[in-house]
Amino acid sequence: MIAAVVVDVPSGSVNKTFDYRIPVELEGWAEPGMRVIVPFGPRKLQGFILEIKEDSTVKGMKNIIEILDPLPVLTSELIELGRWLAENTLSFYITAYQAMLPAAMKATYEKAFQVLVPEKLTDPIASLFSANNEINVSDITNENPHLLKTLQNLAKEGVLDVVYKVKNKANKKRVKFVSLASKDLAKDTIQQNQKKAEKQKALLRELVNRPSGEYPLQEILTETGASHTTAQTLVKKGILHIEEKEVYRDPFQGRKMKPSKPLPLTENQENAIKPILHSIENNNHQTVLLHGVTGSGKTEIYLQSIQSVLDKGKEAIVLVPEISLTPQMVNRFKGRFGSAVAVLHSGLSIGEKYDEWRKILRKEVSVVVGARSAIFAPFQNLGIVIIDEEHETSYKQEDHPRYHARDVAIWRGKFHSCPIVLGSATPALETYARAQKGRYQLAELAKRVHSNPMPEVTIIDMREELKNGNRSMFSKELMDKLKTGLEKGEQSVLFLNRRGYASFILCRDCGYVAHCPHCDISLTFHKRYGELKCHYCGYKEGTPSVCPSCSSEHIRFFGTGTQKVEEELAKVLPEARVIRMDVDTTSKKGSHEKLLTAFENGEADILLGTQMIAKGLDFPKVTLVGVLAADTMLHLPDFRASEKTFQLLTQVSGRAGRHELEGKVIVQGYDTQHYSIQLASKHDYHTFYNHEMQARKLHQYPPFYYLGLLTFSHPDLMQVVDASDKAATYLSKRLSHDSLLLGPVTSPIARVKDRYRYQVMIKYKNEPELRVWFEEIIAHFQKDKDIKDLQITGDLNAQTLM
Ligand code: ADP
Ligand code: ZN
Ligand code: ZN
Repeated sequence: MIAAVVVDVPSGSVNKTFDYRIPVELEGWAEPGMRVIVPFGPRKLQGFILEIKEDSTVKGMKNIIEILDPLPVLTSELIELGRWLAENTLSFYITAYQAMLPAAMKATYEKAFQVLVPEKLTDPIASLFSANNEINVSDITNENPHLLKTLQNLAKEGVLDVVYKVKNKANKKRVKFVSLASKDLAKDTIQQNQKKAEKQKALLRELVNRPSGEYPLQEILTETGASHTTAQTLVKKGILHIEEKEVYRDPFQGRKMKPSKPLPLTENQENAIKPILHSIENNNHQTVLLHGVTGSGKTEIYLQSIQSVLDKGKEAIVLVPEISLTPQMVNRFKGRFGSAVAVLHSGLSIGEKYDEWRKILRKEVSVVVGARSAIFAPFQNLGIVIIDEEHETSYKQEDHPRYHARDVAIWRGKFHSCPIVLGSATPALETYARAQKGRYQLAELAKRVHSNPMPEVTIIDMREELKNGNRSMFSKELMDKLKTGLEKGEQSVLFLNRRGYASFILCRDCGYVAHCPHCDISLTFHKRYGELKCHYCGYKEGTPSVCPSCSSEHIRFFGTGTQKVEEELAKVLPEARVIRMDVDTTSKKGSHEKLLTAFENGEADILLGTQMIAKGLDFPKVTLVGVLAADTMLHLPDFRASEKTFQLLTQVSGRAGRHELEGKVIVQGYDTQHYSIQLASKHDYHTFYNHEMQARKLHQYPPFYYLGLLTFSHPDLMQVVDASDKAATYLSKRLSHDSLLLGPVTSPIARVKDRYRYQVMIKYKNEPELRVWFEEIIAHFQKDKDIKDLQITGDLNAQTLM
């Protein structure tokens, strides 16, 4: 038998399957979708079997070396999906398949020297190999780099061999469990009057006092202060039994979950859930846009839809933006479906993610809640996909493969004949337009549950405040409301829109701003470490005390970072207890959750934070939401700036008054007349939609046109200009009359990591050959050895132009 294998070399010339012979001993085992190790030139590589066939025209086929999985890790559906994905995102097959699997399953490679002729070795080389016949090249480069040349020469002479090893990171966690081999024997031992064996007795007493069964050894040792040796002694005596078992790393261990029961739906909810249930009942594919204002009870609709899918013995995927994948959110699903739920998000360790993923593969769970990549959950009987906050830009991966989770969901929905539910208070314009055209079914929830009113929003022009002599970052009204909240013991949320408004260092005399020497952006000031940092490449430097340009001492931190707001608050409201949430305070694992729990438990009066606190949070005691600098995002070079501002303001306002207490929102800014701010304050999506659609039509942007984007980058500016020029000429000769070609121009971020960036943009309605032309352009420059370092990325449906 022959296996067609796609190998782990992301390169254009290798972007196909290679035939390998399946050795007799593996014949009954090999199946499509399994990971294998195969020889490839001098190397060994990981690959995936995509197909098994009887014969091949290839001469001199090599054998598969090893099969890594007992069962296929890619289902036949995912194998097909991967092909589609690679072709539609202009990525390599191997990249598409790797994106579908947890990182733990991606192999890493190691080169090593092995001794062939030990007699010919002399010191110091001989002693290197005294303990081991094999040494990793990476160890040599780290510890004895001066010996590398000698070793390479010995390899040339045939004294040493160079071998390539594949490391499988997919480790299962194993834990030792302890139990009593004999309770009677244990009791006898405890009774014996030996002074020496106190620790042994303590250990036994602990187990005798517990209900009989097995317990993690480590837990018992910690509890009793006994050592491993003590435990081993008791095993030898036949009193204890220790066994090692495979366990799942459980990121939610020991967390108490409030169980929840289905709520009787309101009339609005009844109407909205109908098309979803209809699609589930009739096993037909249908994309439903659930457009519901914040607090309208969308989640309850998700939960009950999932229940009816589970009742049919099928499975459900729920996608949530990474940032709102909070324990609160997860608990809503775990509370309803308990251990049937697996959770996949980037906060988990590689091992934890691998474990959660295996629960899906082994059919031990039937619901997965996760961020973007959870759309590839290997369910075989998928009954629904729900995408919450479907407008979120994080559903598009901005790296190979550049897929949008919404497109993948719809592909899988067609494959499984099941509904796809897109939920949002502020649907993406593309999505709402499709619903209007009838391509998606529209279900609307215009009111909050039980007619809780939408929060009242006041917009405050900070220029007026300044005129009236208020130089602080808080308007008078916001200050008053914060105080009232404090007095009443209610909670407030302060949201700082930091995107496009980083805190940078500015010289007040000459206007100098510190920039990254490698990227075309200003450096961000981090007060805690007293340093300036580049958010693109990680470059760091100390803060200058005098201006590097004019030597003035008036160089200082500018802009309103969360730290700055926190300091201000401490001055004007010293009695308020503040929790700050931003990248600095949440970088440690679990800190995000700790801060939110503290706020929920009333340990603080004000929650201050960035984008991170805008979504999905639901705190009953929050009555005031303050938005600082609402308009900063409007000025980004992004045609979605208005849409993003509207979405964000709607989301943030939605955090107020979700329960019995009425909510109030105060929005501060400088450009407060802008329609996205005005309409967000009126909770008026439909007017915003119509307004924004006109603007998009006028400027020929999505959803009226698709955006194709080719980005070129190279350390030498001339190379970038030249290549992008050639590509534009090539395209201009081929594009249809309805399409528009723009560029080449410098990208909005003109340089990243010392590479210049240029782009060519195509606005098109229907251009079936565009993918092929992009591929041809990329392939053309790959062949050209003179511009080896040129990188080109193509995106047929770009979401941003950055
Ligand atoms: P959304 O997801 O649309 O923002 P949620 O699902 O969070 O809204 O619902 C808002 C609040 O209303 C939640 O506290 C939820 O428990 C409650 N709720 C939802 N549906 C019902 C219902 N049918 N009866 C009573 N309370 C409900
Ligand atoms: Zn200066
Ligand atoms: Zn940089």
